[in-house]
Amino acid sequence: MRIIVARESGFCSGVQHAIMATERALQTRGAVVATDTLLHNTEEMLRLCSMGLKMASTISSESIARATVLLPAHGSMVAEHADWERRAREVWDLTCPIVNRAHGAAKRFAERGVPVVVVGDKEHRETRYLMEAAGSQLMAVVESERDLDALTIGSSRVGVVYQTTQSREFRLRILEWFRKAGVEVSEEMTLCPEVLRRQDEAMAIAKQCSVMLVLGDRSSANTKRLAAVAAEECHRTYLVSDPSEVLELGLTCSDIVGIVGGTSCPETVIEEVLKRVRNICSDASIEGNLLPDS
Ligand code: SF4
Repeated sequence: MRIIVARESGFCSGVQHAIMATERALQTRGAVVATDTLLHNTEEMLRLCSMGLKMASTISSESIARATVLLPAHGSMVAEHADWERRAREVWDLTCPIVNRAHGAAKRFAERGVPVVVVGDKEHRETRYLMEAAGSQLMAVVESERDLDALTIGSSRVGVVYQTTQSREFRLRILEWFRKAGVEVSEEMTLCPEVLRRQDEAMAIAKQCSVMLVLGDRSSANTKRLAAVAAEECHRTYLVSDPSEVLELGLTCSDIVGIVGGTSCPETVIEEVLKRVRNICSDASIEGNLLPDS
């Protein structure tokens, strides 16, 4: 067995920032409350809760009034933000700067009167954040090819913004669709560079492997996208949320196994998965991927 491990792994800068801010708040601010999952990783959320972080849904209004409230990395609606400002002692907005950049792009289009198309998972917090920024100029939300087929555009020009975790390939298909429809696209590149690097690396590794393990939470948008990108190159691609799942995948010593982590997957999970794969085949060799340094 050969195991190829992605170079880009562990938490992205946005998740790292949210975790560090939470730890700092827990050390310095007394009661600390999260309004939503700060990051899509159950294990890490449990760790922060074991340090004293509370979820807003589990405590009283009186406790919230004495607490520091943390808003999540994927953005918060204006009304939501204002509501927490009113109810809490103080509010820390942990929205990732890259998500805020996408929000700013949608807002700029709207202010210039350009109809806005938001490309993203419709139920995801970040997509709703971008939709709010587009306001009355929001023309459509595109989540899939099917949405494109159903799209009717009543304008010769649109502004397109992307949920930061969308893939490069889907972006190209969107642009091609508008080109064929004869619609002029003003685009702001709002895809997250850290996500793109992981997708590129996942694809490069998947080409060499008989099995791909994409590690991360099943509720994480970037992990699901990473798995979809890898699956295009390797049909035995599995999204692994818990290291114990590795035993059920039928790995054998003749497999070449690629391992890549989503942006909210801690290094400890990658190490644990690696250990379990090596338990299946003890003389497995471990290699880094073959992409040059970026
Ligand atoms: S994936 Fe990118 S945009 Fe999302 S939180 Fe991480 S750094 Fe920010």
